[in-house]
This record gives sequence, C-alpha cells and structure tokens, in this order.
Amino acid sequence: MLLQRVAVVGAGAAGLCAARHILSRVNSFAPPVVFELTDNIGGTWCYDERVGTYDNGRPVHSSMYRDLRTNLPKEVMMFPDFPFDPQLSSFLPHQEVQRYLEKYCHEHHIWPHVRFNTAVENVRPVVLSAEGEKDRTTWEVTSSDSSGRQKTEMFDSVFVCSGHYSEPHIPHIPGTEHFKGRVLHSHAYRCAEPFSGQVVVVLGAKASGLDISIELAKVGAQVTLSHAGPLLTCPLPAEIQQCSPAVAVEEDGRILFQDGSVAAADALMFCTGYNFRYPFLDAAQLGLQVQDHLVSPLYHYMMPPAFPSLFFIGICKIICPFPNFHCQVQFALAVLDGSVALPSPARMEEEVRSELREKVERGVQRRHLLILEQQQWEYCRTLARTAGFTPLPPVVRSLYEEVWRQRRVHPENYRRLNYRLVGDARWELVD
Ligand code: FAD
Repeated sequence: MLLQRVAVVGAGAAGLCAARHILSRVNSFAPPVVFELTDNIGGTWCYDERVGTYDNGRPVHSSMYRDLRTNLPKEVMMFPDFPFDPQLSSFLPHQEVQRYLEKYCHEHHIWPHVRFNTAVENVRPVVLSAEGEKDRTTWEVTSSDSSGRQKTEMFDSVFVCSGHYSEPHIPHIPGTEHFKGRVLHSHAYRCAEPFSGQVVVVLGAKASGLDISIELAKVGAQVTLSHAGPLLTCPLPAEIQQCSPAVAVEEDGRILFQDGSVAAADALMFCTGYNFRYPFLDAAQLGLQVQDHLVSPLYHYMMPPAFPSLFFIGICKIICPFPNFHCQVQFALAVLDGSVALPSPARMEEEVRSELREKVERGVQRRHLLILEQQQWEYCRTLARTAGFTPLPPVVRSLYEEVWRQRRVHPENYRRLNYRLVGDARWELVD
C-alpha cells in the first residue's frame, strides 16, 4: 500500500503533535515533512528577545514575554499522553514549556523531520481526474529556505499549524497619530522595566492585558486598564485603575475614554488580540473566508468542506490548547486513513453554516464564532467518539474550570496553587 505524504506547516505545539501521531502510524503514513520558518521548534513558547523582524526580514513569530508563567497548570496543559516532569510546580515559566516540547520531539523522534528556516510560501490544491475514478486532490507546497531557494513538492494532505498569535489586531482609534508616547501591541512586549515609573494605558483586559498590567504595576508603572467589559471586581494592585474603552486621541495627545474622561500617558499598549493570517493560502480557491477573527466554513473547525485533506489545527479560541490539538490531530488522521467517513462537501458546508447561524441567533458576535469555551468538551468528545480514540479524561475539564474560577477571583496569585491529579477523574490541591 502506498504511504500518504503529509506536509505540516509549523513546528509549534500543534505541528509537533501532528508529527508525533503521523510518525506512530507507519502503516498508513510516510514520515511527515514539518516546515518551520524559524531555527527552532516551540512556536509561541520559543522566547525571542527580538521584536519586529528577524535578520532575514520576516516578522518575529513569538509573542512570548520574558516573565510569562502559564495560565493553565501543567496537569491539564500537557498532551494527555505526555506528562510534564512531576517535580515541577503547576504553573510554569515559559522556558519549562519549551523544554517540555523539546523533550516531546526527542522521545517521538520528530527532530529529523523538521526543516528549519524554511517558510511555506504557497499551498495549492491540484485535483487529479482519471476516467472511471473519483477525483483526487493532492497538494502542491512551495517553500523557501534561508537563502531564498524555492522548492515545490507534492503531498496528499496538509496540516496548517502556523498559529494565530502573531499578527496583531489593532482596532482603529481616531487620532492615534497625535499620541506623543510609545504605541505598541502586546506582541512586541517583552518585559516591564522600560515602563517603570511611567503612565501606561493598557487597552483590553483579557489574559494578556490583565497579566501585563500586573507586571507593569510591579515595577511601579501607573496603569489605566481600559476595557469594554464589566468592571473587574477581583483584587488588583493599587497601581491599576480601570477605565471605559479608549475612543480617541485628542490633538494635544491625551487619550479620551468613552465615559468622557481624558488622560495623558507615556505609553499606549494594545492588548487587543490577534488576526488570522494565512499568506500561503488562497482562501477563495479553497471556498474559505478568512477575516480578522473568523475562518469559515470549516467542518469540525478543521477542514474546508470542499478540500477535506487540508486541516487547520488549533484554530479555536478559549480552549485547553494541547489537549485540543491532540484530539483534532487524531481525528484528522482517522479521516485520512479512511476510518472516519465524511458527509458530502455540500452536507458538511450546510452543517457548518447552520451551526454558525444558530450561534449568531443566540447572540454570539461574528468575531467570537471560533470561541469554544464550554463547548470544547463536547467537541473533543465528539471527535474521539467519531474517530474511535480515547477521549480526554474528565479531570482535564474539572481542573481547567477550577483554574478559570481561580483566575477570575485572584488574577494576581492563582498561580501560587499546586495541583495533583488523582486518577482520571479527580484532582487535589498540594500544599
Ligand atoms: P505556534 O506556537 O504559534 O506555532 C506555529 C509555528 O508555525 C511557529 O513555530 C511558526 O514559526 C511556524 N510558522 C508560521 N508560519 C509558517 C510558515 N509560513 N512556514 C513555516 N512555518 C511557519 N496556551 C496554554 O496552553 N497555556 C498558556 O499558559 C498559554 N499562554 C500563552 C501566552 C501567550 C502570550 C500566547 C501568545 C499564547 C499562549 N497560549 C497558552 C496559547 C499558545 O499559543 C498555545 O498553547 C500553542 O503554543 C499554540 O501552538 P501552535 O502550534 O498552534 O502555534
């Protein structure tokens, strides 16, 4: 039997997970080719002091900051089949996650299959027709190495694992050009010290906005945390004041907020999230729409219905990322090896559209359609049931939800807690 050839775009956690499962199915798949534009694995977790562009002019990928500690405990953050070192505390500095991913690579013999410093530039479907046979899609993948040499190869399928925390989303605020201080997005934030003693307006109070505000407060910055949500009622350092959304920058450089107040500041930091961006894909050709916060239609949040041998891994938001990748990858491979039979493309498209329609009717904003949150558990269970692999243990959900509760109440110190798993269904606090 001919082994299928798979291209994996990106050697972050999602791409490594894809490679690990492909390598374990030697009867169906040839070893994958993992294309990685940087010189290391890890993606987000590969900390880089540089901001802006690399020497070769490509934009810096990772948005990691120097003192980041994980916002999930290692007990649920891990790939379910690959625990972290049990000696480590639950909430880890980013270096430990990078070490973990490097160990994952070693133990699953992934390193030799990664082509470093190689950017995928174009992924194009080529439909092969033969008389009396069903049309078959293959994929033409064009990549370029560090010296700019291009290479085009054919694959049976492509896993898009290029991440979606690299392309800053910066909402338009009229008059920003009048601002006299430093304007930056959290993508370019590395550490707090340069802001010591300064007045900083942080826009957005989601994970990064809140974490960075707390870091800034610790070095004595005065922070105005400007956001549209309800006032946070959790204890915050005295240096952080909350404020309504910024609506304009006035001609004198002061920032005007929705409630009519104005403030002068030394820095304006956008913690306003990221856009999806796939410069190597022709979305229209794939029947997809790629917008700032939405890629659609994707069957099971993975496949364009017309091309179900292209898989986006890890595109959903507010999920437990590594366990989610673990389920998506196994489902995708079950589709490719024929153990999952898909509905017709028209049926898949209709299912996706009706699910999205139903979400919109429930009041979900278009920009939030890829947020899974509560839905993630049923989603992963469905993938496991359909493809016949072991579902996530129930403790992943119960500990994940406990930590979210703790984060909301104690954003400054929930990371002091340590947990231990007790079997598949229970966790306990460790002193
Ligand atoms: P990435 O890690 O972004 O990897 C994508 C890879 O693709 C990169 O190596 C990139 O170089 C490569 N690539 C991109 N384009 C190309 C191309 N054209 N050709 C070749 N290679 C390409 N998750 C948690 O579970 N816990 C946390 O505590 C947590 N904290 C986070 C904090 C921050 C600041 C951020 C930004 C994210 C955090 N996340 C956290 C989410 C995190 O992004 C995921 O856990 C996970 O690392 C995403 O992996 P990925 O492989 O999808 O993407």
